[in-house]
Amino acid sequence: MENQPNATLASIVSETEIGDAARALAGASAQEVLAWAIHRFGRELAICSSFQVEGCVLIDMAAKIDPNIRVFTIDTGRLPGETYDLIDRIREHYGIPVEIYLPDTDVVQRMVTKHGLNLFYRDLDLRLLCCQVRKVLPLNRALENFSAWVTGLRRDQSSTRSNLDKVAIDNDHGGMVKLSPLADWTEQRVWDYIRTSDVPYNALYEKGYTSIGCAPCTRPVEAGQDARAGRWWWETDAPKECGMHCSIESGNFERELARLTRDRAALGGSPNA
Ligand code: SF4
Repeated sequence: MENQPNATLASIVSETEIGDAARALAGASAQEVLAWAIHRFGRELAICSSFQVEGCVLIDMAAKIDPNIRVFTIDTGRLPGETYDLIDRIREHYGIPVEIYLPDTDVVQRMVTKHGLNLFYRDLDLRLLCCQVRKVLPLNRALENFSAWVTGLRRDQSSTRSNLDKVAIDNDHGGMVKLSPLADWTEQRVWDYIRTSDVPYNALYEKGYTSIGCAPCTRPVEAGQDARAGRWWWETDAPKECGMHCSIESGNFERELARLTRDRAALGGSPNA
């Protein structure tokens, strides 16, 4: 679902400007990318974090450049207790107010009443539906407040991220700017930074987790498994993505999403179609 750019935001970017910045910063350090973005976008920039280690590294780096850096997260309502604990620790450690965005309670209520609280285990379309309602729609709403967002994506996390640029136009979100300062980092480099800089991190990593999302959809991985193998582990031949960082279309969940959100336009005018 594509977002429209927020006309009230001050920072207007052109594809030419961002293309030039992407080329100039392709080999830059994560701190240099963050410093450029903070200087360019100011309060219209935010780090979007699910409080995995990559996000914690970015918050640490950014807070050292600008102690007033804005950070937001999506509270899906199904996060592990350890993630909520970490959010509080980050707030205290850096003295920053983490901005929390929640799913639309009416839509969640309709979804779980109709399909059950653990609908995601039953089939892929219901899982994608839940991710849309609990993650993608709140993200779209959050991004309306910003001109640029920073993510902790890395190229070696999955094939869908292998071509990631550090600076890019985000056409899924109205042409705003998306920054991935850790695009060329390895998992080892992330952990080296966490340890040498004494950055707070999620306690679940000590229990075998290598990628952390919602509690019912994440489990620890075995030695040698892909780092994202613990995400939606029951699915086969499905992308290890929720739709926040790449738009996903199946042709099925979208119709149910339209029903739940009572989007008459998407239903051709009939809310009961
Ligand atoms: Fe729902 Fe699981 Fe997606 Fe979280 S990760 S939004 S619980 S399907």
